[in-house]
Amino acid sequence: MPERSAPYAAAPARTQGRRHAEPPPRGRSEYQRDRDRIIHSTAFRRLEYKTQVFVNHEGDLFRTRLTHSLEVAQIARSIARRLKLDEDLTEAIALAHDLGHTPFGHTGQDALNECMKPWGGFEHNLQSLRVVDLLEQRYAEFDGLNLTFETREGILKHCSVKHARQLGDIGQRFIRKQRPSLEAQLANVADEIAYNNHDVDDGLRSGLVTLEQLAEVRLFKRHMDVTLKAYPALSGRRLTHETIRRMIDTLVTDLLDTSAQNIRRHAPGSVDEVRAAPALIAFSPEVNEEQLALKRFLRDNLYRHYRVARMSRKARRIVVDLFEAFAGEPRLLPPEFQHRAAADQPRAIADYIAGMTDRYAMLEHRRLFAMEET
Ligand code: MG
Repeated sequence: MPERSAPYAAAPARTQGRRHAEPPPRGRSEYQRDRDRIIHSTAFRRLEYKTQVFVNHEGDLFRTRLTHSLEVAQIARSIARRLKLDEDLTEAIALAHDLGHTPFGHTGQDALNECMKPWGGFEHNLQSLRVVDLLEQRYAEFDGLNLTFETREGILKHCSVKHARQLGDIGQRFIRKQRPSLEAQLANVADEIAYNNHDVDDGLRSGLVTLEQLAEVRLFKRHMDVTLKAYPALSGRRLTHETIRRMIDTLVTDLLDTSAQNIRRHAPGSVDEVRAAPALIAFSPEVNEEQLALKRFLRDNLYRHYRVARMSRKARRIVVDLFEAFAGEPRLLPPEFQHRAAADQPRAIADYIAGMTDRYAMLEHRRLFAMEET
């Protein structure tokens, strides 16, 4: 594997290592081991029942955080291979990037962040790191999954300088204003490609946005036009899918070409040189403008759709109710979290709520607030 990757790639043999020393893995690389640990984690399985945009019970065909993460990994890996980056590290970061998400998507995170304001707030990137560093309990010798520095660096996508100061080596780049590895940069952009495109698909499928509306978005329109030119009679789902697959292809190809050019121009000879360089994984300015326009369209027409807003209001209510109930009466927490609450009560409550799936949060809310339920 190392022979395939370039000097600017994060080669497993040059890892900065794990927080707790372990013997090297046999028959797989350090990053393969990270990827495998992520897939076997409890937090990864819970992604199946966590909202991306649509709450889990709204339909079986919409993306969840699990299928979203798989799509991110697929897009990121295929680009990693072409750029001669480490595919396993890219995949590990992509699969882990959303592990810290609360139930009910961004609404859940915003609600929990407000509840936690007096105690440093709640931030899903930091929580993803907390899941892999601390909250998973699977190994005899350490808390968390004990992942490599490079995977953890990729998981911590954003972080305030204030938080970064408390994080030791992993927070340094936010203080020094440096970039992470190319594998981490790639997983981040693949996240955007995945959700912009699957949210178009889910938006159309749900009926919350229409083809007519999308025809006003240049990136969508020009790919729909190409599709209809080749297949004038095409309509419905097939037209949507043929358009979306062309959009994904354009974005992936543009990202690949622009990033390859950037890498050639800066010619970083090591991951440390990558960290000191500007962001090298990027779209061309033209395609970036188009994909930002699609993003704005989705924000205005899908994420702020009144039907999404109605669900978000209920979701917010559930998170706030749960937080207040546990904060007022910590004995309502399950024993494991009561134990944690002895050291830091608000954080233990946030960890418990953040770990919930959508349906578990709804069930727990009924258990605490509905007299007729048990
Ligand atoms: Mg994501």
